[in-house]
Amino acid sequence: MAYSIAIDGPAGAGKSTIAKIAAEKLGFTYVDTGAMFRAMAVYFIDRGIDVKNAESVGEAVGNVEVSIEYEDGVQQIILNGDNVTKRLRDEEVGKTASAVAVYPSVREKLLELQRKLAAELNVVMDGRDIGTCVLPDATCKIYLTAGVDLRSLGKRARNPILRR
Ligand code: C5P
Repeated sequence: MAYSIAIDGPAGAGKSTIAKIAAEKLGFTYVDTGAMFRAMAVYFIDRGIDVKNAESVGEAVGNVEVSIEYEDGVQQIILNGDNVTKRLRDEEVGKTASAVAVYPSVREKLLELQRKLAAELNVVMDGRDIGTCVLPDATCKIYLTAGVDLRSLGKRARNPILRR
C-alpha cells in the first residue's frame, strides 16, 4: 500500500516548503499540484483560448494531457508531450492557472492524475483541497496555516534558505 501525506492550507502558509522537506526526509515523492494547474494554463495561453469563457474551457480540457516525470528527483511537468516545467513560474501562467482552477472540468481532469500518483507512489501532496477532496483517505492529513503577517511576506522573505 502506498502512503500519502496531504498538506492543505491557505496561500502563503509555507505548504510547498514543508512538503518538499518532508518528502526528502522520508524518501517520498513530492507532488506539486499547483504545477499541474499551471500546465493547464500554458495550454490555454498558447492556444489563445479565452479562460473567461466556460464553454471554450470545457471543450478544450478534453485535449489536454498533463503528466509528471521525475528527473533526478525533480518533478517535470509534461503537457501533451512537451516539457513545460521552465515556463510554469511565469506571472501570466500563475494568473491564468488561478482563472482556470475555478472550472469543475479542469479540477476533475487533474484530480484523476493526482489520485493515480497517490495510488502508485508514496507521496507528499500539497494544495488547497488535497485532504478534503483529492485524497480524503490520505494516511496523514495536515492543515498548515500561518498568521497573516507571515503569509503576506512572500516566499523569499519567509524562508531563511531562499533568503540567503
Ligand atoms: O500553488 P500554485 O501557485 O502553483 O497554484 C497555482 C494556482 O492553481 C493557484 O493559484 C490555485 O488557483 C490553483 N490550485 C488549486 N488547487 C490546488 C493547487 C493549485 O486550485 N490543489
